[in-house]
Amino acid sequence: MASVAEDRPIGPLPDVPGQRYVSVYALHAGSVFLPDREVFDDSLDTDTGSKVPSFAFLIQHGQRGKLLFDLGLRKHGMGYPPAWNETLQTFTVDCPHDIVDILNGGDVAPSSINTIVYSHLHFDHVGDLSPFPSAELVALPRYPDSLWQEFPPHQKVRYIQFEDNVPPSRVVAPLGSFDRGLDFYGDGSLYLLDAPGHFPAISAPLLARENYDELDIARKTVDRLKAMHAVDNVVVILAHEKERLDEMPLFPTALDDWAVEEAQRKRG
Ligand SMILES: [Zn+2]
Repeated sequence: MASVAEDRPIGPLPDVPGQRYVSVYALHAGSVFLPDREVFDDSLDTDTGSKVPSFAFLIQHGQRGKLLFDLGLRKHGMGYPPAWNETLQTFTVDCPHDIVDILNGGDVAPSSINTIVYSHLHFDHVGDLSPFPSAELVALPRYPDSLWQEFPPHQKVRYIQFEDNVPPSRVVAPLGSFDRGLDFYGDGSLYLLDAPGHFPAISAPLLARENYDELDIARKTVDRLKAMHAVDNVVVILAHEKERLDEMPLFPTALDDWAVEEAQRKRG
């Protein structure tokens, strides 16, 4: 059992008879140079950093089809709104193969994706929506001052709220160490967790105030992630966790079997 500070204790996540599952695939949709000063509060005066992947995830549900969680980077870092130019120079995009190239390499047509979920609206996660005209975009109505405000014409967008239960089947309830999880398909197979504050690394001892509007909230989210990581049947994969490049299989191989083995390794 793990616990989050003053919060309720948490146990294993639901894994009941008749439990529905999705298959999950990790896609390495480009890399960026992540300066340490953007991440760690004790590195504000340094020029050090590291090249990190930007992972996106394909989620396959038996009845509900294919969903992409984030789209990674745009190919060669081209085509972003001009407002991102300064940021792009800092983060040095390396993306010879974008998510469409990767999907095509695994014989998944972009037109077969029916849902795209954006974790947040930063350039290294939003990619390019235009190859997915038939997909509904699911996003949070946060970041009112986002540099990324324009979606393609006719883009279907559904904003989700963690504050309200949206009928008929999208139920918000605590899950693991998080207070608000949205049961996306209504069958317990996929939850979106409310993880505010922006968080790059679960092991970060300090979080640089340069990169977080809500530093205290970000720290709390990191605590929740660490608590989730400590749960027996949970495997946490972070969007920029470069160590995972050598540890986990990438699309077109599913993470499913690997995740079961990884959970067993954690238990020792
Ligand atoms: Zn990012």
